[in-house]
Amino acid sequence: MSTGRLTIDLDAIAANWRALDSACGGRAAAVVKADGYGCHAPAVARRLLREGVRTFFVAVAEEGAEVRRAVGPGPDIFIFSGPCPGDEPLIAAHALIPLINSPAQARDVLGTDQPFGVQLDSGMNRLGLEPAEFAALKDAILAGRPQLLISHLACADTPEHRQNAAQLRAFITMTEGTDVPRSLAATGGIMLGPDYHLDMTRPGVGLYGGHPFAGARAVLRLDLPVIQTRTVAPGEAVGYGMAWRAVRPSVIATVAAGYADGLLRAMGGGTLRLFADDIPCPLVGRVSMDLITADVTDAADLPRTLTLLNHRQTVDDLAQAAGTIGHEILTSLGSRYARLYKGA
Ligand SMILES: *Cc1c(COP(=O)(O)O)cnc(C)c1O
Repeated sequence: MSTGRLTIDLDAIAANWRALDSACGGRAAAVVKADGYGCHAPAVARRLLREGVRTFFVAVAEEGAEVRRAVGPGPDIFIFSGPCPGDEPLIAAHALIPLINSPAQARDVLGTDQPFGVQLDSGMNRLGLEPAEFAALKDAILAGRPQLLISHLACADTPEHRQNAAQLRAFITMTEGTDVPRSLAATGGIMLGPDYHLDMTRPGVGLYGGHPFAGARAVLRLDLPVIQTRTVAPGEAVGYGMAWRAVRPSVIATVAAGYADGLLRAMGGGTLRLFADDIPCPLVGRVSMDLITADVTDAADLPRTLTLLNHRQTVDDLAQAAGTIGHEILTSLGSRYARLYKGA
């Protein structure tokens, strides 16, 4: 084995979906954009279909087509970015449901027999019709029988932020009396409680084991091959910039994965460990493009593989070490890893 092996536990994703679904009273859809947060959208969608999921969300039409091929006819597949120019054949061929985000997208869809939903901007100012735009188009939109009205929270992972309640109020005000199913909450919004659940929730990162779903089961295991080991004397340095220096006679393992595999360079120099069976071995020195180095002095034997991701060290730990969020760690997972699926 010369590349890492990434094991994706589809049963854990299914268990996370079940837990999130019951946390919001059985209203959870599933977000599988960005190749299922790096976990392979077709495999994730097929497993969740078996679990009972009948509504999926993706970012763009191409992803929707891939999910449709995986789940077959029947489930609803919504596209966050809506109908972009040139998408019409793909949307029609795969029975996708674009969300209208702008007056231009409304013009393209209204009056056709294309099924659609609508995304409203309740204060994030990223995607969606502004309140005034929606007001101007409301009659035409409702006459076209939208399947869903959604909006997205800017600060859901900060529960005490005033923006959450303000966006909930704005969304309710815009959609009051429409009779169309409404959805506001992603993973963070589910955690904010029942006021935010409305008719449907849209968990993404929580399915894949990430914050802010605190009770999540770990989904990923990443085993990395050790290419060579060496002994370094006290005072010798390891890696680019000589950023780490031995203070005792140390055994250093050189491991085949680096920032080209999604191990962000910013992870180096922190508190991350690689596991030799159960023994934690500190990640030392800088992360290079194809390699990292670990201090395996305390391992029982010279390890042939080391584990970077497991239930003891999750995507959130890697995210914290790199100063980012679990979403970015997941979607950075490298294309060189051999991928194994549990529960396919
Ligand atoms: C990505 C996304 C989600 C899922 O968010 P998570 O934080 O991953 O749960 C839900 N809704 C919209 C509009 C999104 O863009």
